[in-house]
Amino acid sequence: MIDFHCHLDLYPDPKEVIQEVVLRGIYTLAVTTTPKAFEQNLRLAEDAKRIRVAVGLHPELVAERKREADLVCKHMERTRYVGEIGMDGSLQHKSSLGDQRAVLRQILTECRRQGGKVISLHSRLATSAVLDEIELAGEIGIPVMHWFSGLESELKRAVDLGCWFSIGPGMLAGKKGKTLTELVPKNRVLPETDGPFFQLKGRPAMPWDVDKVIADLGMIWKTPCNDVKSLLRMNLRNLAAVGTKP
Ligand code: MN
Repeated sequence: MIDFHCHLDLYPDPKEVIQEVVLRGIYTLAVTTTPKAFEQNLRLAEDAKRIRVAVGLHPELVAERKREADLVCKHMERTRYVGEIGMDGSLQHKSSLGDQRAVLRQILTECRRQGGKVISLHSRLATSAVLDEIELAGEIGIPVMHWFSGLESELKRAVDLGCWFSIGPGMLAGKKGKTLTELVPKNRVLPETDGPFFQLKGRPAMPWDVDKVIADLGMIWKTPCNDVKSLLRMNLRNLAAVGTKP
């Protein structure tokens, strides 16, 4: 299966989790919260063919680490995948929204310069601001909204801007997230866990917990789980094909 937004390096024993991910054949996007962690992740996942490592700078860390945006841009030469980046307008982090926007703009500008990137974006309580930056940046590749939690009107705007959506157990836990999920085009959906940040029944979510996401999507789409899996695999193949040279 697929986990399109997971912090593999933040589990207590990343090697053990990676081993299990390889054993189970899970296509995993290992997002990172700092560009230094990107290097570490590359080493950790070097033998895992189905793991892709993204270079990121988490918006919650921008207040202390905004200078590392340059390093993100530098490392982007080595991967098609970028994330976790974005903006966070929650109480704890809204004082750095100005810096967050500047960092996001710098990274998306570099995405446009290099072209064809796949970008995992955080947008909690800052959806419109993130969409503004995506729109401003232009041809950046494929923005993938991770755990989208905006308004329905913002969702529509994101779809019009060409965004994809990675949907996880957190988004599917509430009525609002379920309603938003119904509105997302099925051919732009990928499953995620956001583990180990996201807790499932009091323990960190693991990449194989995407099974729960598939079951929930099956309910929402009124589709058998096997068909949901085929659709998601096809989406991943399409994503991989977009923007790459034939
Ligand atoms: Mn995350």
